[in-house]
Amino acid sequence: MSRQAQAPTIVLFRRDLRIGDNAALAAAADRGAPVVALYILDETTKGLRAMGAASRWWLHHSLAALGDLLRKAGANLFLAHGRTEDAVAKAIDASGANCVFWNRRYDPSEAGVDARLKAALREKGLTALSFDGALLHEPSLLKTGSGGFYKVYTPFWKAMAYKVDVRDPIDTPGQIDGWRGELGGLRLDELDLLPSKPDWAYGLRETWTPGEKGAQARLGQFIEHDLANYERQRDYPGQPSTSRLSPHLTFGEITPFQIFAALRRSKSSGTSKFRAEIGWREFSYHMLFHNPDLSVRNFRPEFDAMSWRDDMRALRTWQRGLTGYPIVDAGMRELWRTGWMHNRVRMIVASFLIKDLMIDWRHGEKWFWDTLVDADAANNPASWQWVAGSGADAAPYFRIFNPVLQGEKFDPHGDYVRQHVPEISALPDRYIHRPWEAPAAVLKDKGIVLGKTYPNPIVDHGAARERALIVYQSLKD
Ligand code: FAD
Repeated sequence: MSRQAQAPTIVLFRRDLRIGDNAALAAAADRGAPVVALYILDETTKGLRAMGAASRWWLHHSLAALGDLLRKAGANLFLAHGRTEDAVAKAIDASGANCVFWNRRYDPSEAGVDARLKAALREKGLTALSFDGALLHEPSLLKTGSGGFYKVYTPFWKAMAYKVDVRDPIDTPGQIDGWRGELGGLRLDELDLLPSKPDWAYGLRETWTPGEKGAQARLGQFIEHDLANYERQRDYPGQPSTSRLSPHLTFGEITPFQIFAALRRSKSSGTSKFRAEIGWREFSYHMLFHNPDLSVRNFRPEFDAMSWRDDMRALRTWQRGLTGYPIVDAGMRELWRTGWMHNRVRMIVASFLIKDLMIDWRHGEKWFWDTLVDADAANNPASWQWVAGSGADAAPYFRIFNPVLQGEKFDPHGDYVRQHVPEISALPDRYIHRPWEAPAAVLKDKGIVLGKTYPNPIVDHGAARERALIVYQSLKD
């Protein structure tokens, strides 16, 4: 029997938009039958969180890149829109496939879709198999001594070191025998993922190269130029020293297995801090797996009694980067322009929204979800809850970032602020994080009119801090 006469294998692509270290694709290629590579944009199944606008932009380009790679390897990438179960059933009918393979997802709502799909396929006598790839650990298998899940990062990461064997990446299939039929699927532009009116994505286009090749290039550059100084420099937003792999990881264009293998080969010092950050990603997924409502419900129920301020005007001011605190405004504008923000600044802007403005962390989480290219179902809510203090292993309630001191410590010459807040870029270093203290003559000389060309601070940080401490303390009483 010729290969094309064998019943094909459908490989579902989701947040694993790569052909390297792709266990499901490798298993399908090994099986020998033709491969139907399928991406389903599922915006219909109830309970799935709709993707934000920046993620949709990324997805479009990542699918284009994956399509190219698959085509070169011998297979088409078919695209569909609709309920996962319906689209798979349609693809089975059209192709005569008898196997469906995929890599596992760990967001409980997505994992639920996959579990139902697996049961439905098996009931029909078809083969449905799932594989690892997104995470180094299986959240259902890594358990504490008492059989529960980990709520504190350090013991979690120690347990990972002892109990989890990090496998080598799986080879990229050289040639894929792609199924030659027609599924009646959609063209990429028919998924309607790109913004059009207005087209706000120019900053994203300038900044990123979505896709597996872009991810591998980023990893290579990071290891060659920045890894050795990572631990020392990772907190300074004005110096691009972190990996910027986050959107590539979020879309599964690269796996943590590939990253760990590259670190093993690199012989560079400074790898353990970087590994530990990947460990935070594992921990966030561990939390999400065991707490499906992480993006909407306080992990610590006592936070349900918190009296947040309902101030939509302040929220919009924060979103637009017009708070009058330069480091906060720089971060929010970096986010809007590039779809990404440096980790240190994410912590500062989140602390500002939650503790200076006393606005519910869920508003910030939603804004990040819509605007980040790395918007991640686990990392985003886990990090917001960490800053709010409502999360597992969270920042203590009395840790309230001072946006001026944080700016002066981590952006000492104001490079980062000057890059993103041009209207105050002419200020001398000593006033760049506190423009309201600049003498009138300096402001005049630089053409700055506070309240006109750049806002006055939206709140007084000292007073806001006192207010937050009182409210937070009341939760403990
Ligand atoms: P690197 O420093 O190069 O780290 C490498 C990888 O490790 C990252 O790509 C990421 O996958 C992981 N990582 C690093 N730091 C963390 C962390 N604190 N928690 C979890 N994983 C981490 N990260 C996201 O990927 N998506 C999000 O939606 C997201 N939202 C955040 C919201 C807030 C309020 C905060 C404070 C942090 C958030 N983070 C999020 C975590 C972190 O800021 C980003 O992962 C990091 O800035 C990405 O840049 P990088 O790839 O250069 O990081």
